[in-house]
Amino acid sequence: MDVSHLLDPLNDAQREAVSAPPGNQMILAGAGSGKTRVLVYRIAWLIQVEHVSPLSIMAVTFTNKAASEMRHRVQDLLQIPVRGMWVGTFHGLAHRLLRSHHELAGLPEGFQIIDSDDQYRLLRRLIRERGIDENQWPARQAQWWINARKDEGQRAHAVNGFGNPAIDGWQQIYQAYEEQCRLAGVVDFAELLLRAHELLRDNEALLQQYRQRFPHLLIDEFQDTNAIQYGWIRMLAGPQGHVFAVGDDDQSIYGWRGARVENVQFFVNDFKPHTIRLEQNYRSSGNILAAANAIIANNDDRLGKKLWTDAADGELVQVYSAYNEEDEAEFVIGQIQLWIDGGRRADEAAILYRSNAQSRLFEQVLMREGIPYRVYGGLRFFERAEIKDALAYLHLLSNPDNDSAFERVVNTPNRGIGERTISQLRTLAADAGVSLWQAATEVCSRGDSQRMQVSLRRFVDLIAELRETLNSEEIGLQLRKLLDCTDLPSHYDKEGQEKAETRRENLNELLRAADSFRLSYEDEQAGLSPLAAFLAQAALEAGEAQGEEWDDCVQLMTMHSAKGLEFPLVFVAGMEEGLFPHQRSVEESGDLQEERRLCYVAMTRARERLVLCHAEMRRIYGGQNLCRPSRFLRELPGELKHEVRPGLAAAGQNTQADASSHSGGNAGSGQFELGQRVSHQKFGEGVILNIEGRDAHARVQVNFEQAGCKWLVLSYANLHPVR
Ligand code: ATP
Ligand code: MG
Repeated sequence: MDVSHLLDPLNDAQREAVSAPPGNQMILAGAGSGKTRVLVYRIAWLIQVEHVSPLSIMAVTFTNKAASEMRHRVQDLLQIPVRGMWVGTFHGLAHRLLRSHHELAGLPEGFQIIDSDDQYRLLRRLIRERGIDENQWPARQAQWWINARKDEGQRAHAVNGFGNPAIDGWQQIYQAYEEQCRLAGVVDFAELLLRAHELLRDNEALLQQYRQRFPHLLIDEFQDTNAIQYGWIRMLAGPQGHVFAVGDDDQSIYGWRGARVENVQFFVNDFKPHTIRLEQNYRSSGNILAAANAIIANNDDRLGKKLWTDAADGELVQVYSAYNEEDEAEFVIGQIQLWIDGGRRADEAAILYRSNAQSRLFEQVLMREGIPYRVYGGLRFFERAEIKDALAYLHLLSNPDNDSAFERVVNTPNRGIGERTISQLRTLAADAGVSLWQAATEVCSRGDSQRMQVSLRRFVDLIAELRETLNSEEIGLQLRKLLDCTDLPSHYDKEGQEKAETRRENLNELLRAADSFRLSYEDEQAGLSPLAAFLAQAALEAGEAQGEEWDDCVQLMTMHSAKGLEFPLVFVAGMEEGLFPHQRSVEESGDLQEERRLCYVAMTRARERLVLCHAEMRRIYGGQNLCRPSRFLRELPGELKHEVRPGLAAAGQNTQADASSHSGGNAGSGQFELGQRVSHQKFGEGVILNIEGRDAHARVQVNFEQAGCKWLVLSYANLHPVR
């Protein structure tokens, strides 16, 4: 058999990994060393050379997009369609498992997935309904706490607070929340994993069946698995299964969401894998790689890797010091324009940032310049209000007990069902232990004719009528009918023409998505109805790119969602202390190291050109803030960087607001102390809240009576003590 097409495009270490006899393997290697490539080739090798059926292969990736790419690449390599292979994210695969065995999993057939926004609302409602003090028990924190327990595999009843009242409080909320979800037939993201884990753990026969079905498990980005995911892999693999894991401890960036990089070590202990290291980087030019290596070297507790490249040194890493965030955006887009003018494509360029909110300015400038762009994970098509409204109707049709969906649409558009009616329904439902829908049908069937019941009955009849044709019609038709009957699109008219138009366009986009939706072979096998599959896809893919393919657009995304991707031209924006590394992380050394790994991930996305930007001023919470360059910029060796504009010298011109005078500055913070009253020529009088740095770098935070809180560089600010 000629297998040269499977081995020729690989180096020796990669070849060894791809062609090893079936067994456990761990590929531990740095960014861009071909881990994902090896995983894809390994799947092709198993099918073609080891004659493993695609039905026996389960591969776990980090996004749905990566999953579909993987499937295509395997098909390209084998030149045959590959059906029945399970490729997806942990959440997607867990969902499929739960669908196939909903009864054993203790879920109703039409169970639905709620996203994190729904989860938050549900918790907030529950906390209010029970009269729990929201200040002491905020829904956000409850959400975080509950998800963290689930990620560790812990049910509410198993939590032991050892008399700690705080934990007891959270536990009670957790318990009530579990009950609510059960009644409504909904599961949140963390629940998908936990439930799928319990399903296999508690059903020996089923577990054996799946162990036999999937003797080959392959996992990309292993360093970002959490406890329950690792438990799942262990259980599914059993004593016989073969696990092929690839990862990079330096790219573990989801610790804040429960990922445990220790799983790499656990895997080595538990599975005794054959470990292979890949040391050649194929992605980045020499200087980019050297810069990334230099920065990550500042972390301790690394497993340690060598990473080299054959590629030429290439360009130096550019560092741009912008006056402010607008200047930063102008510079970045200007550079992209030059790139395009030079004959390169727009989609070769990516702008990466720490938080989603940073995308707005870049979008504005891109729009003004007429450069097409796409925000990946930012716009969240499926999280927009109008889309969620329409989907909530579909949810309700598919499972009327879904209380979140019921509450969302019972009076959207306005049909005269007021808060009082809804709260009566809530009480009825809570007393009888039934869903809101059941309570509503009950009220309507009593047949007296109060006004509340007239409008409520109209709603109940509408849903019941739409439900009748549920299984006989295509989703697209169903959705169209639903939009007509409810007149949902006009509901947004009151928001003004422009906004309403966007919302209509989005609803049309949803219709298009519904029309073109096809049940995949794998989902069909798992017994999903088209509507259930469509809704699940909407929930699972929210936060990834919007529906369409990536055509020639500049890519905007957070550094987190850039994981695993690569671009010839990469901008990392907002490299300022407090923004990146993020303020929250600066106090905790573990968190700071995670930020540094994030920096490593961001930098290693670049193939040819890497531009790091920071702004000297940035508006945060309405106030102008003087920003210090990120410590990661300081960690960049001088010989690898090219400063596009010298930093502070130019800043003075544009920071007049804060730096009224360059002369007569107070060098050093020596004469100032916390709590001291000071006066500033422009801002007036205030009190010093904070002092940082010393000599020329000394900065103080002053709370001015008129102008509010500001950070000032002492040597510029010309502050005078007020006695
Ligand atoms: P990350 O850690 O960022 O996920 P990775 O280790 O998964 O990176 P890949 O994305 O698989 O790396 O590979 C990086 C780039 O190098 C890709 O463009 C890939 O096609 C290329 N590449 C990998 N191995 C080889 C090889 N042996 N010859 C040529 N190109 C290669
Ligand atoms: Mg990869």
